[in-house]
Amino acid sequence: MSSAPADLLQFRADARTVTGLGAADVGIVGDGAHQKTGGYHEGKDVLVTIGRYHAPATANVGSGGEDYSARQARDRNGLTNSASASDVGSQWPHGGRAAWLRWNNLLYAEMRDHQDRLPALRAINVSLDGKTKKRFDQLRRDDGLIASTDTVDTHTHLELWRDTEGNRKITLDRIVTLMRAAVTGTTPTAGTEDDMTPEQDERLKNIDTWLRGFIQGDAQIPLQNQGKTSNWPNKTGAKIDQIATKVGIDPAGLGQIEAAAKAGAGEAFAEQRQALIDGIVAALPQDKDGTLGIADVRAVLVDVLLHGAAA
Ligand SMILES: [Zn+2]
Repeated sequence: MSSAPADLLQFRADARTVTGLGAADVGIVGDGAHQKTGGYHEGKDVLVTIGRYHAPATANVGSGGEDYSARQARDRNGLTNSASASDVGSQWPHGGRAAWLRWNNLLYAEMRDHQDRLPALRAINVSLDGKTKKRFDQLRRDDGLIASTDTVDTHTHLELWRDTEGNRKITLDRIVTLMRAAVTGTTPTAGTEDDMTPEQDERLKNIDTWLRGFIQGDAQIPLQNQGKTSNWPNKTGAKIDQIATKVGIDPAGLGQIEAAAKAGAGEAFAEQRQALIDGIVAALPQDKDGTLGIADVRAVLVDVLLHGAAA
């Protein structure tokens, strides 16, 4: 049966300490209502039972027949019986509903402006004013805040990418840091938890700029590398495998993406491409072993996305 993973249990404990909420006010595993609709509060067993997950993980990526929480490659690859969401109630003993609203606004602003500080957080269902119900999804950043039917005038819903289980302390700790700032009415300090070097920070900005250009259809934006505009190297094979490992997509899944691109499977490819881009962006700050350079990232992006799409 679907269960709460250790890191979300720790998050719940931390969130309760800061907000004063009771155990029942910070949820993880779905109740009956959730089980009928799937989503990140459920694990693989429930999704299979309700017919919203069809193995294997490498098939059906992007398919509307799969639950939205098990549709992207990285969610399918990370799918276990663990829930991958949390609901935080609005009645905070520490600071009250006003503090909860401040936290909602801090959280949304952080997702919008500093995605790198919350790499494991896919989406939130949130109310910024206590009445209007909204959703912000990193998978669809360009859509901004969209309408939600979730009852987020009384709680906040957090969704974590399923492949981040056990490896998302930076994100969960940052969410708690924002809670603390909301309770005390202070401005949170810049994200020091991710201990990125200035070079890594700069790399992330560069790749992000290039990716934005790519998404908008202009793949000719040159990537600045230490002040110089470099040519795109052309490497495949081992580098694709390396990227796949970094971003949590298995090589077979990437092979499918490339094949889909070459076959001109437009929409399916676009959906997988977005998952890949999100995965790469999310993975870059954690690239600390020095084996994966920006040239490698660029090469894989060009080979898989640009050349693949044009073939
Ligand atoms: Zn929820």
